[in-house]
Amino acid sequence: MFSRTIGLFFWMAVAAVAGYWLNPSSGHIWGAFFVCFFTVIKDLWKGQKITQWLRHNNVKEPPQMGGIWGDLIDRMRRILNEQRKQTQNEEQKLQDFLLAIQASPNGVVLLDPEGRIEWCNQTAALHLGMDAKRDLMQHVVHLVRDPVFKKYYSSESHDGEAIIDGRSVSLQKTVKLSVQLHSYGENRQLLLTRDVTTIAQADAMRRDFVANVSHEIRTPLTVMSGFIETLQSLNLDKEERERYLDLMAVQAGRMQDLVNDLLILSQLEGSTLPAINEPISLQGLMSGIESEARGLSSSQLFENETPQILHFEAPESVQLSGANKELHSAVSNLVNNAVRYTPSGGVITSSWSLLPDQRMQFSVSDTGPGIASEHLPRLTERFYRVDRSRSRESGGTGLGLAIVKHVMQRHGGELKIESELGKGSKFTLIFPASRVILETESV
Ligand code: ADP
Repeated sequence: MFSRTIGLFFWMAVAAVAGYWLNPSSGHIWGAFFVCFFTVIKDLWKGQKITQWLRHNNVKEPPQMGGIWGDLIDRMRRILNEQRKQTQNEEQKLQDFLLAIQASPNGVVLLDPEGRIEWCNQTAALHLGMDAKRDLMQHVVHLVRDPVFKKYYSSESHDGEAIIDGRSVSLQKTVKLSVQLHSYGENRQLLLTRDVTTIAQADAMRRDFVANVSHEIRTPLTVMSGFIETLQSLNLDKEERERYLDLMAVQAGRMQDLVNDLLILSQLEGSTLPAINEPISLQGLMSGIESEARGLSSSQLFENETPQILHFEAPESVQLSGANKELHSAVSNLVNNAVRYTPSGGVITSSWSLLPDQRMQFSVSDTGPGIASEHLPRLTERFYRVDRSRSRESGGTGLGLAIVKHVMQRHGGELKIESELGKGSKFTLIFPASRVILETESV
């Protein structure tokens, strides 16, 4: 600034001397005035260029000037550069923040004070059946028409959550959503959505399960209470008393079987996966199961009936690694089912075979009544029975195949059911090669 002032005075003095030399009466005044005028015009022109540069916001290409204007441009450029970097940083942070909300498994909707959608992530759009771009600034209650949501939205306090039906992907799949409103900023609201379909399903399953267990226990209990009342109120002779006590023992046994199966199921669900290195001899396993099955078969045989024909086969040279009790439970459930559902004179064949890919297969086939195809996918559900009275009559709990399925899942194997009405059934267990221990090459 100082050098520029000195420079201005110098050029004014030079111009005044030159003016005086040309016209001694007023030339020096014109000379000095001309320098001032020229300097002002030059500065105005430079100012104009700088204003244009700032207006176009082109920080990278500043006008080239020297002196005080050059310094000024340089400083401005640095300030603008810093501001630009700061803005870029803020924008990046905002983008990262929005990406994080986009990645959230929960839906997020930002509502303005009038309840219009200012922004929502893809999950919320999917949950509520909206278009994240098209539906911006639409009123949320115009888009989410569930009456439960409308009631929740218009209530004064939004403590807790509301469970509404979400937009289903298909007719078969219903979606349950938990929605929650939270106030923030100046009368703005945050709407959070969460898919609770599996929780709702688990809840419904738990309720069904409790209802089923209560029902299963209530039936024999009612029968037993009836017998107890009869024994208390009637003066029965010894023979009749014994008959009633036998019938009561059957009902007590039924309850015991049910409780045992429930305990097995809960242990299967709660315990760690079976070890891979506990070898189980198939011969040993099958000899126990065979004597159980033969006992069951003869116990259900009435006079003059043809006995069932039972075939058992187990390889000597193969062992399975897994939990002995669990495998016994799975295999005996299938064999006992075959014995229980096959009429007298029927044939039951159980065998083991090694598959070409080194997996081990156990199958039990019978010549029983068979199962209609519509029941097959549901057979492993707890308490699912094709014929309720038949199952109960033969001492079934309705939990056998659910236990088999669980055991197979825990051993990394699978259960296959093939059956045709009137033509018998075949139940197959397939164990992974990792659980097969071969003692010799041939089985
Ligand atoms: P349950 O204790 O009633 O036998 P399970 O879970 O073992 O229960 O079997 C479910 C249902 O599958 C049975 O109620 C029965 O209707 C059917 N089922 C199972 N095994 C056979 C079979 N070998 N032949 C015909 N039906 C069978």
